[in-house]
Amino acid sequence: MKLFNRLFRRAAPAIDDAQWQQAVQGMPFLHRLDADELARLKSLAARFLDSHAVSGAGGFEVGNDVALCIAAQACLPVLNLTLELYDDMAGVIVYPAAFVVRHSEVDEAGVVHEWEAAMAGEALDAGGAVVLSWEDAQEDHLWDDGGNLVIHEFVHKIDMGSGGANGCPPFLAAFHAGIDPARWKAAFSTAYDDFCTRVDALERRLPPDFDEENEHHLDLYAELAQALPMDPYGAEAPAEFFAVASEAFFARPAPLRATYPQVFELLEKYYRQRVR
Ligand SMILES: [Zn+2]
Repeated sequence: MKLFNRLFRRAAPAIDDAQWQQAVQGMPFLHRLDADELARLKSLAARFLDSHAVSGAGGFEVGNDVALCIAAQACLPVLNLTLELYDDMAGVIVYPAAFVVRHSEVDEAGVVHEWEAAMAGEALDAGGAVVLSWEDAQEDHLWDDGGNLVIHEFVHKIDMGSGGANGCPPFLAAFHAGIDPARWKAAFSTAYDDFCTRVDALERRLPPDFDEENEHHLDLYAELAQALPMDPYGAEAPAEFFAVASEAFFARPAPLRATYPQVFELLEKYYRQRVR
């Protein structure tokens, strides 16, 4: 049936050229792409929008410009791979700003803990949606360069293709025969451990009464974080390290390449893109 679908698949509605140019202009990390790559990204974005609804929530209305901006960033990691990596996704939901998610967890003693957290983005597992805050997608918060919320969440979605987000994405026979999964795991876990050590050292330099609401504290944090090759959030878990390293790979590759050359080389092989 797959072949039949492919043969008779109708063409996705084309993206307006002027709107596309405007979207690309607004995303400097796309400027390294040549004309052929940009044309392929555009047709991939058209197919993405044809098969995945981008809907507003919390009163947000998704205009063409927003949908296009999200689609272009979602398609960048799969530009030389396949859109099928996003098959297991219900759609994209966009809030105007950070959204509150209710979490609950049962601890070892069987006690249920519930809490609420404001989120900038979330990729839901098992066929779920990608949820984004448009305000956060547009602006970089603590990390001035190299942060990219949309790429981050879509990379989680790719990662989930091999059974849950764990920092080890699916290796596809058609594209990734040259990647040794054991080497991937070794290189990423060594880099992750090193990065956690660096983030711990950074946190030791923060005032003991560090307060996320305090602007001076946040400025100090941002200043210290500049010495890191990527957003300190990458130290949260191996899955976050892969997502944050991927953001850096596409949006600000030089520090990542200098600090973790093996991870950089594996990301080059995985995404099949040269970003230098
Ligand atoms: Zn994440």
